[in-house]
Amino acid sequence: MSENTGKVTAPRHYVGGEWVDLDAAGDLPIVNPATGETLTRVSLASAVGVGRAVERAHAAFPAWRNTAPVIRARYMFVLKERMERRYDELARTITREHGKTLEDARGEVRRAIENVETAAGIPTMMMGYGLEDGAATGIDEEVIRQPLGVFAAICPFNFPAMVPFWFWPYAVACGNTYIVKPSEQVPLSMRFVAELVDDIGLPPGVFNVVNGGRETVEALIDHPLVRGISFVGSSAVAQAVYTRGAERGKRVQAQGGAKNVLVVMPDANVEKTVQNIIGSAFGAAGQRCLANSILMTVGRARERVMPPLREAVRALRVGDGIEPTSEMGPVISARAKSRITGYIERGIAAGATLSVDGRTVPAAAGPGCFVGPTIFENVRPDMELARDEIFGPVLSVIHVDSLRDAIALIEASPYGNAASIFTESGAAAREFRYRVPTGNIGINVGVAAPMAFFPFSGAKGSFFGTLHGQGRDAVDFFTEKKVVITRWFDTPDVAGHHGF
Ligand code: NAD
Repeated sequence: MSENTGKVTAPRHYVGGEWVDLDAAGDLPIVNPATGETLTRVSLASAVGVGRAVERAHAAFPAWRNTAPVIRARYMFVLKERMERRYDELARTITREHGKTLEDARGEVRRAIENVETAAGIPTMMMGYGLEDGAATGIDEEVIRQPLGVFAAICPFNFPAMVPFWFWPYAVACGNTYIVKPSEQVPLSMRFVAELVDDIGLPPGVFNVVNGGRETVEALIDHPLVRGISFVGSSAVAQAVYTRGAERGKRVQAQGGAKNVLVVMPDANVEKTVQNIIGSAFGAAGQRCLANSILMTVGRARERVMPPLREAVRALRVGDGIEPTSEMGPVISARAKSRITGYIERGIAAGATLSVDGRTVPAAAGPGCFVGPTIFENVRPDMELARDEIFGPVLSVIHVDSLRDAIALIEASPYGNAASIFTESGAAAREFRYRVPTGNIGINVGVAAPMAFFPFSGAKGSFFGTLHGQGRDAVDFFTEKKVVITRWFDTPDVAGHHGF
């Protein structure tokens, strides 16, 4: 029997160290997108349910805050060890509910663990700074960082395990308490994580998982005891969450959608560039916020890169991600599939050249939500294919005459998540890095994913806020800086002299 079948118990909510039912606003099926099988159903917490969870998290805050950072860090070391031990099971859970290949899911788990490793350095990361005589002679000034209370993360479907780890390990290590709200399409991976966390003995209420949809999100933002929100998802929702949170005086960091460009210069290494384009555009079936879904060929790059690219893309093996032979899995849902095929049909009607058609996928792939890798050429920048985030395995190729033209098109995009350039020219790469207004830049790197100790950046319509997830930015987001100015009047007589 395939790993992808078999009964899964419904994920409940993990609140106050217990698996609980919360007052619900409805429920939804969880479907394995490769097989079409309904795995279980997920209950969506109502505003009342959210209130109960927030109160438990809030109640856990004073004692957790009062736990020394060095002790809080130790929980991270233990969690890392547990995650390493159950690594493959977590990866399989991701593949089962999301569809990405097992290799990709393993990469996702590695990234999650790297955030735990980084957060384990919290005693150093949380240190403040000070200056003796900083205000005047005899008056010292220092900054200390303090946790604030309850924070929450609202997460997208495309990285069910990794995205929450951009936030929660730092928040908790800083002394806050936390609620993760996974995507209602993929709640099983965080259920698995909550089981691991349950096992490391964190005080009840420090880490919580609440399942739900829009009502759940709005209740979390609105709850007066929630101090801040980290959001990752599509741009329209990111902006709405940012605005709603800001109106209520919350800290908000909201990462949105993307339409990333990969520029190929005429001098690029063809073989490596083609490999990277494929990984970037078709990895996770194009459902990554760092996917480069536009390829811009500059000058002669088109004739060098396109023939081997078309050939390699036609040869990609599409199938259930759990099978080791699959190089690309399904998209998340039947709804996503029909949205993506709609884009393909409208792209043809708009006059773009469909050179690899992903609408027909071999039956051997399975009965699930498959869309094969698709390439459109002769795409114009004003076409829907070039403007919208399709979030599927559709690569749009735009040809330009110069690097300057490529940069001008990227500058004109409302998005600013990532961009890559493939070239052997340092000068071209430098110009690209200097001018391109995206938060993440890849130079001969197709998926410019920052390591855990760097901020996961983003700009323009791809990010609302100031501080990003991961590393030091996360520590800044999850702590308040307090400035302490100290003066003592009765200076003791030390070593025979008085005063300074
Ligand atoms: P989504 O915006 O549909 O949902 C994200 C989260 O918001 C979910 O938890 C969902 O329950 C909630 N939500 C949905 N609609 C809502 C509403 N109207 N009000 C309040 N909450 C709502 O996104 P998705 O389809 O799950 O994820 C894919 C999107 O996420 C893509 O746009 C992708 O680019 C983006 N993404 C961005 C990054 C990044 O770092 N910038 C990373 C991963 C994914």
